[in-house]
Amino acid sequence: MILAQQFGFLDEYAKKEIRRTSLKAVAIPGYQVPYSSREMPMGRGFGTGGLQLTLALIGAGEVLKVIDQGSDDSVNAVNLRSFIEMTCPGVGTTRVTGEADLIQSRHRIPEKPLREDQLLVLQVPYPDPLVVVEASEEKRKQLHGEADYSRLLVKLYEDIVKFDEITISHRYPTRINDHYVIDPSPIPRWDVPKLHMSKALVLLGAGREKKIYAVPPYTKAEPLAFEDKPFRVEAFLDEQGRRRACARCGCDNSFLDEYVDSNSGEQVYRCSDADWCDEQLARQTAAEVIYG
Ligand SMILES: [Zn+2]
Repeated sequence: MILAQQFGFLDEYAKKEIRRTSLKAVAIPGYQVPYSSREMPMGRGFGTGGLQLTLALIGAGEVLKVIDQGSDDSVNAVNLRSFIEMTCPGVGTTRVTGEADLIQSRHRIPEKPLREDQLLVLQVPYPDPLVVVEASEEKRKQLHGEADYSRLLVKLYEDIVKFDEITISHRYPTRINDHYVIDPSPIPRWDVPKLHMSKALVLLGAGREKKIYAVPPYTKAEPLAFEDKPFRVEAFLDEQGRRRACARCGCDNSFLDEYVDSNSGEQVYRCSDADWCDEQLARQTAAEVIYG
């Protein structure tokens, strides 16, 4: 049954359209390019936009990594990876960020800086940052065209008035190449600076909303902020004001997930990026072997 299918599940016309849309997205950084998102054998909202990009862009002999919230082993990542393996014969898979040609991700950008020869595909539930201030898509398009984000800035300002800081934790509105403001998908604020002047091409796919947009390599990506209230990433400070470290590898410059230890009931912090955590741990073990 599998052999009778097209490579990459989608038909050639669909793949060609997604590639053309991706090129347009690269040519107009941050602009949401509409495309005819195909029905996939999984529910919309499960990463079908990212999946369609991956299927259209990956080729035999290339290596893929799929992550969900930094983990290669969560349900969404496992299912997407096995679907791609099943429909793309000759595509290799890895967990190691540095080995991957294409990384499809939900909600995180890997800690390890990406290279020019790598491609990051982000799964997007809601592509338009203006949807919180304007219900009509037609009007939103006009606002994007005129780069009029004043209502979005007012929304951020209201946050500051109410909470004395901007409270958005995920999907932080980010201005690309001095014009379009994008929803960078539900990555934490920690990951937003990684988009700025990224060496790797970043493609964002929203299957349900039928949009593809891009942050091309070496492109400005600036989170919206105010001069007196600059953008800040998560600080991960403990009660004494010290930076928390990962309980597993000891890294104190990664994005941390918070767990509750089932035995002690205490809060434990660990790297969210599983491959990064493994790499730090392996590095330490190697150092211990050499230096005792
Ligand atoms: Zn760690």
